[in-house]
Amino acid sequence: MFDTLQDRLGGIFDKLRGRGALSESDVGEAMREVRRALLEADVALDVVRSFTDRVRERAVGAELLKTVKPGQMVIKIVHDELVATLGSDAQPISLAAAAPVPILMVGLQGSGKTTSTAKIAKRLQDRDKRKVLMASLDTRRPAAMEQLAVLGQQVGVATLPIVAGQSAVQIAERAMQAGRLGGYDVVMLDTAGRTTVDESLMAEAAEVKRVAKPHEVILVADALTGQDAVNTARAFDGALGITGIVLTRVDGDGRGGAALSMRAVTGKPIKLIGVGEKMDALEDFDPERIAGRILG
Ligand code: GDP
Repeated sequence: MFDTLQDRLGGIFDKLRGRGALSESDVGEAMREVRRALLEADVALDVVRSFTDRVRERAVGAELLKTVKPGQMVIKIVHDELVATLGSDAQPISLAAAAPVPILMVGLQGSGKTTSTAKIAKRLQDRDKRKVLMASLDTRRPAAMEQLAVLGQQVGVATLPIVAGQSAVQIAERAMQAGRLGGYDVVMLDTAGRTTVDESLMAEAAEVKRVAKPHEVILVADALTGQDAVNTARAFDGALGITGIVLTRVDGDGRGGAALSMRAVTGKPIKLIGVGEKMDALEDFDPERIAGRILG
């Protein structure tokens, strides 16, 4: 197992007791440990660098209180900076637009996109009393379309009838029309995923975005992908302009670094987390909890 950051910093700072304020060199040594802890928690290297720079700026010259050990003080600065970077207030999916509100779900295949689409639809319907229609735009994988239909039945949310031979854009148009005619409040569009970010995936999603004019573009990303999460988030945000992130598999044993990386790189809020395969395993994002995990 990892030593906690607390243990490591305790060792470094024990020799500093009795000083008035943290010096540049005290903090420099501590930052090497902070950097190591963040890398072990799977935070991307470039994110680690800018993060430790910010922590260093706050820590150098910080007054040492007699009642608090220097190591604990640095931990608190790191913790507070983690929470600030992760975003301190809960950000629900916004429905503040004319009905039917289009929500576009994007992400790599296997990230949990279809599952998260159904989980969010269920939550909007059960908790927020919205009438929701879901549509799968994954024209290359009939199984993915079937999967959304099965999940829709399971959670009692309507899905757009599957029509073979239509393009993703045509399905999106049909979904919006069905949404208007059927008096739906929300239309969730589950786009196709690929195993890697590729141009045709982005071009298709961009075309769907142009037609459907989504109020939210939600990137679904797997918390266990660690450092790769940064490249995924950067690519999707660059090509589509995402409005938020759903982080899945937070029930797994990842250390939470992906959350920090994606937030830091895109500046977009993590709105919800997936904590299991069941349809109610969806929770609001809690920065304190992820910060705790990253610190170990
Ligand atoms: P997609 O290809 O991105 O649409 O991925 P799916 O929605 O089909 O999900 C792939 C697998 O991940 C399925 O077996 C899901 O049950 C599982 N899954 C999705 N979200 C979570 C989560 O938050 N936690 C866990 N443990 N499994 C999840």
